[in-house]
Amino acid sequence: MAKVSIDQERCICCGACAAIAPDEFEIDPKIGKARYIGSGKITSDTQQAVLGCPVQVIKIIKNKKEE
Ligand code: SF4
Repeated sequence: MAKVSIDQERCICCGACAAIAPDEFEIDPKIGKARYIGSGKITSDTQQAVLGCPVQVIKIIKNKKEE
């Protein structure tokens, strides 16, 4: 499994990731930032969300064993 990390300091809460991959990202209303809620399985939606983030703060960190 990979780890999906969001730099919440730099997230501008545009909602794009949650719109692209609603099963994997949501906006935390308490902090007004995105968070990852997926299983760790990298899907095409995950990759689209990474590409769709306008400030490029979503990163996929692969487990070294999978490389
Ligand atoms: S797409 Fe990027 S900036 Fe927009 S809510 Fe998601 S993590 Fe934040």
